[in-house]
Amino acid sequence: MKVTDKLVEGKTLFSFEILPPQKGSSIQSIYDAIDPLLDFSPAYINVTYHRQEYIYKKREKGYLEKVAVRKRPGTVGICAAIKHKYNIDTVPHLICGGFTRDETENALIDLQFLGIDNVLALRGDPIKTEHVFVPQEGGNKNALELVEQIMRLKKGIYLDEDVKNPHPLDLCVGVAGYPEKHFEAPNMATDIHFLKKKIEAGAQYIVTQLFFDNKKYFDFVVKCREAGITVPIIPGIKPISRLSHLTFMPKFFHVDLPESLSSELLNCTTDQQAAEVGREWATLQCAELVKAGVPSIHFYTMGKSTQVAAIAKAIY
Ligand code: FAD
Repeated sequence: MKVTDKLVEGKTLFSFEILPPQKGSSIQSIYDAIDPLLDFSPAYINVTYHRQEYIYKKREKGYLEKVAVRKRPGTVGICAAIKHKYNIDTVPHLICGGFTRDETENALIDLQFLGIDNVLALRGDPIKTEHVFVPQEGGNKNALELVEQIMRLKKGIYLDEDVKNPHPLDLCVGVAGYPEKHFEAPNMATDIHFLKKKIEAGAQYIVTQLFFDNKKYFDFVVKCREAGITVPIIPGIKPISRLSHLTFMPKFFHVDLPESLSSELLNCTTDQQAAEVGREWATLQCAELVKAGVPSIHFYTMGKSTQVAAIAKAIY
C-alpha cells in the first residue's frame, strides 16, 4: 500500500527508518531493530541507502588502486525481506549518487517486482573523498531528475525505447525537505523553490530532515504552503542518544539544538544521562506535533529502537 493512502486526516501515524547493517551482519540484526517497535503498529518502515565509499591504496611502483569500503547489504532486498516477514509496507531510499540511470531503472523494476509500492527519492551526500556532490556519469544530478525518471517509468517510458510490453511502474514517491534549509542552498526561499519542483514533477509527500525545535518545522510548513506546496509534510524526529550528539547532530545534519536542550546535555556526564534527556525532549516534541495534527511522525532510529519504543509508548 502506498504511503499517501495511509495518511488519514486526524490521525498521526507512527513510522520509522532503519539502516542496513554493515557487511557480514545477518538479516536478524534488522529484525532485532524492528521487533521492539511492532507494538506501535508502524504504518511503514523506511530503509536507508548507503553509497559505497572509496579509498585509494598505494600499490607497487606508486600506482594507486581504487578500493570500495564499507559495503552494506542492498536496501531493496532488505525492504522485501521486511515486507514479507512482517507484512508491513516498506519504503526503500533510492539515491542519485553512484547510480547510472540504467542502474536506477533496474532497482525500480526490482522493487516493483517485489511488491514494494513506495520509494523515497534522494540525491545523496558527497562521499568522504569529495567536497561537493559529483553525480555518476550517466546518472541523475539531483533528486528532481530522479523523480522525473520515476515519473517516466510510471507512464511506461523506459530508457530503452525498444523495451517490449513496457509495464508502467506504480510507485508512490516521497522526497526530502529541510526545516533548517539544505546546507548547500543559498537561502530558504531557494531551497523551497527546488523542493516545489520535485512536487510539481510528481512527488507525493515530503519527509523532513530531523529537527529539535518544533517551531522550525511549523515555520517550514507555513513557508511551503505559502509557496503552493500542498502535499503532506511528515516531520522526522531523532532523539539524542549519546553525549557526542551535542556536536555530531549540528555537524552532520546541519541543524541547531535549542539552548535549553544543549544546556541540559552539557550537564550530563554519561551517555545514559544524555539518552534520558534526549528521550524526554523528543517525547515533548512528539506530543506537540500530535496535538498539531501532523500526518505521521517518522523516527530516525539509528539502531536505537528501545529509546524510540519508550517515546512511542508515551505518545501512541
Ligand atoms: P536535492 O533535492 O537534489 O537537493 C540538493 C541541493 O540542491 C539543495 O540545496 C537544493 O536546494 C539544490 N537543488 C535542487 N535542485 C536544484 C537545481 N535544479 N539546481 C540547483 N540547485 C538545486 N542520504 C543517503 O545517502 N541515503 C539515504 O538513505 C538518505 N536518506 C535521507 C532521508 C531523509 C528524510 C533526508 C531528509 C535526507 C536523507 N539523506 C540520505 C540525505 C540526502 O541525500 C542529503 O541531504 C543530500 O545532500 C540532499 O538530498 P536531496 O534529495 O534533498 O537533494
